[in-house]
Amino acid sequence: MQTLELKSINLRGKLLTNASLAHYTSWRVGGPAQTLYEPADLADLMVFLKNLPQDEPLVWLGLGSNTLVRDHGIKGIVIITQGALIKMALLNGVTVRAEAGVACPALARYCARQGLEGVEYLAGIPGTVGGALAMNAGCHGGETWNQVLAVETLDRFGHAHLRTPADYEVAYRNVKGQPQEWFVAGHFKLVKGDKEQALERIRKLLAHRSATQPTSEPNCGSVFRNPPGDYAARLIEACGLKGQRIGKVVVSTKHANFIINEGGATAKDIEALIQLVADTVNQQHGIQLHREVHIVGE
Ligand SMILES: Cc1cc2nc3c(=O)[nH]c(=O)nc-3n(C[C@H](O)[C@H](O)[C@H](O)COP(=O)(O)OP(=O)(O)OC[C@H]3O[C@@H](n4cnc5c(N)ncnc54)[C@H](O)[C@@H]3O)c2cc1C
Repeated sequence: MQTLELKSINLRGKLLTNASLAHYTSWRVGGPAQTLYEPADLADLMVFLKNLPQDEPLVWLGLGSNTLVRDHGIKGIVIITQGALIKMALLNGVTVRAEAGVACPALARYCARQGLEGVEYLAGIPGTVGGALAMNAGCHGGETWNQVLAVETLDRFGHAHLRTPADYEVAYRNVKGQPQEWFVAGHFKLVKGDKEQALERIRKLLAHRSATQPTSEPNCGSVFRNPPGDYAARLIEACGLKGQRIGKVVVSTKHANFIINEGGATAKDIEALIQLVADTVNQQHGIQLHREVHIVGE
């Protein structure tokens, strides 16, 4: 009934029912979304939200590169920004507006080609701008919110807001502040620099990543946040957990904070291995690791 009501509105995006979320997450696991919407663009997404019953559970996904969807999927509506909110533009000499569905590596390259420096590190993060804003994604000393001048958000009624960093509590891989709003674009302040040097930094960073991370196998990046003054990967490796497996899920032998789907894994096994790793580190080092990866669904 929900879906029929939505179909009667003049939507330009793609509305799917019972759509497998394994196709929308980098671990390539997860059950179906009861309803999934891929908007055509920002205006279309606003129409969609305005017509949505207010009690309908809502989950937003970018590239699903930091999200574990459980095997029985998500009841309610999943909104996919990748491939939809994809506009990028130079607002003035040093400020770039990027919509939430823009892939982080695309933003990094766009800025570098304009001779703008400051977000080269985003080239190594295989998520969207929306996901990076939600997570305060970062690496190699860079963090998303260090460059944010403003963000554009939508609330559940489809109303637009322009917010500044002062509206949020931003910490290491953690952003709080406006729980009933979602990011639709970020305005990033960069510095004028050298195009070739910026592109060279990106090339080096990507070469370093493919040498140190299992980038070609389905994974979700670092599963745990680093505890203060230490590295989750060091602690996991010291417990002898590299290569530890449950079913088709294994702790990477290349980078101990990565968990790999070898093919045919279940979300249940991934979650069980995450728990096993956390428990083992706690028993052997007395340190409670906290997940960076978000777990959603049933
Ligand atoms: C190989 C690999 C390497 C990685 N390396 C890094 C790294 O170096 N540093 C790092 O920080 N991360 C890294 N990650 C993790 C991941 O890429 C980042 O966290 C990324 O920012 C997630 O973006 P996403 O679009 O995939 O988010 P998703 O997984 O789709 O979503 C993540 C969370 O953000 C929420 N969300 C998504 N879009 C929006 C939106 N528009 N508005 C509000 N909330 C939203 C989701 O609901 C979810 O809770 C890596 C992942 C992989 C697979």
